Amino acid sequence: MNKKYLLKIGILAVIIFLSIPIFHVLKTKWSEDGITIPIPEGYTNDVSGLNLTKVDTIIEVPNNKKEIEIQLKNILKYAKENDLKISIAGAKHSMGGHTIYPNGIVLNMLAYKQMELDTINNVLTVGSGALWEDALRYLDKYGKSISIMQAFSSFSVGGSISVNGHGWQKDLPPISSSVLSFTLMTANGEIINCSREDHPELFHLVIGGYGLFGIILDIQLKVVANIALKYNYIQLNPRDYVDYYKKYITEKPNINLVFGRLRISEKHFLEEATLNFFEKVEAPVPHLKKQKSTAAQRLVFRGSANSEYGKRLRWDLEMGMNKVSRNDIYSRNELLNGHVSLIENKDHSSTDLLQEYFIPERNFNRYIEHIKPILEKTKVDLLNITIRGVKGDHDSYLNYAREDVFGFVFLFNQKKTDEQEEEMKNLTNKLVDEALKNGGTFYLPYRLHIDRNKMRKSYPQADNFFQLKLKYDPTELFDNKFYEHYK
Ligand SMILES: Cc1cc2nc3c(=O)[nH]c(=O)nc-3n(C[C@H](O)[C@H](O)[C@H](O)COP(=O)(O)OP(=O)(O)OC[C@H]3O[C@@H](n4cnc5c(N)ncnc54)[C@H](O)[C@@H]3O)c2cc1C
Repeated sequence: MNKKYLLKIGILAVIIFLSIPIFHVLKTKWSEDGITIPIPEGYTNDVSGLNLTKVDTIIEVPNNKKEIEIQLKNILKYAKENDLKISIAGAKHSMGGHTIYPNGIVLNMLAYKQMELDTINNVLTVGSGALWEDALRYLDKYGKSISIMQAFSSFSVGGSISVNGHGWQKDLPPISSSVLSFTLMTANGEIINCSREDHPELFHLVIGGYGLFGIILDIQLKVVANIALKYNYIQLNPRDYVDYYKKYITEKPNINLVFGRLRISEKHFLEEATLNFFEKVEAPVPHLKKQKSTAAQRLVFRGSANSEYGKRLRWDLEMGMNKVSRNDIYSRNELLNGHVSLIENKDHSSTDLLQEYFIPERNFNRYIEHIKPILEKTKVDLLNITIRGVKGDHDSYLNYAREDVFGFVFLFNQKKTDEQEEEMKNLTNKLVDEALKNGGTFYLPYRLHIDRNKMRKSYPQADNFFQLKLKYDPTELFDNKFYEHYK
């Protein structure tokens, strides 16, 4: 064989090698139907797309303190006179009808988003309808950043406090620990200030209280400096995760943000992991720019749905990107300001559903061993597993992190069929059983597949929580599907 011939074969091989992944990504794009089914007039839904419900009225609140107080008082009076329930909605990224009550009034809080920063004490006062992305943009101008928030910035502050979300900020408890106080409109229309000193019982109940105790209006949050952070990562065997976490994260005071990821392709399923972390460095901190297009990243992510090839490709590309991005420097706000459109599902016949389990460090490896066969057998497609460390939460009444835990976040793609709904219910029950066996808990903002008895095994404080609901809201004015399911 002559050299020219070999060269041609080589070029052809490279073209084929490169064109398979490109073709896969393009095929993903072509197979998306892009259909968004509009919500009929008089109905509402949440991000799951599985909660289409007829409601009485959807009320948009104003972005003005005086006006909102008058409007909400009138709505409360009207609801009582007409025997209507009130549910409260932020960005509606909870997935079990937590923002919905059939034939009730829905308060859409998103417009209520004014902000003010106390630069001396580093306290942000923010309307509960503001999204984290609004808050980050505002704080960025002052060189400040949100202390604790979820991994995306597309959620409302009120909705995040009401589920007591947590994020990838290193070794911190959930959002509760960054809340100094908030004003709350109670069921009788009174506005009270809640903090660890004022109305402490309500303070603890409302944080992680799923909108059952009143309407959160203005929140005071502790904020931190916006700093420059350098990326680094370690590829490791999940069995070594906890040891590496201690050595490379906990013991390093300058690490600020951190998350882990488990490999989910059938090849090496849960046998490889990455630990990704961002370390504080002395460098200029650029201001937030417009969010960059994430179209290509999204397609690689979507291409992993229901495709073993896509899952392997995504893992390999992510490993490649990790290598290329090592030592890159970002501002903290830029890293926190991720939009959920990055993973958006544009196929209307399926939906992406999250679940999260909080497992004490001592059972980390055993938990992975236990869930492996369950996840291998399920017919629901697993898209992602992320791991975060969450410190014990002593602020919210219905707390899920009752000691220091690792949060395992699962993202599934479920077909909108009865069969897959049933499959998901079985899967969720098995995963909750494993979490319980390993001293863990499950996260409440997602689908309502766990019955009230099993819920109480995870949340022994639930009976008292629901009794206290009746103490503060005896007529059950504030209601939603979460409350109806678990009470
Ligand atoms: C893609 C995705 C990623 C996620 N990542 C994370 C994560 O990293 N960490 C995490 O902890 N969670 C995460 N979640 C869950 C998320 O934190 C919750 O769904 C959260 O509720 C979203 O905020 P929201 O504004 O959409 O709240 P909504 O869904 O609108 O509301 C949630 C609850 O808060 C109540 N509520 C809303 N506003 C008010 C108010 N002003 N007063 C009183 N009650 C109110 C509602 O009644 C409801 O019960 C994620 C969810 C999705 C879909």
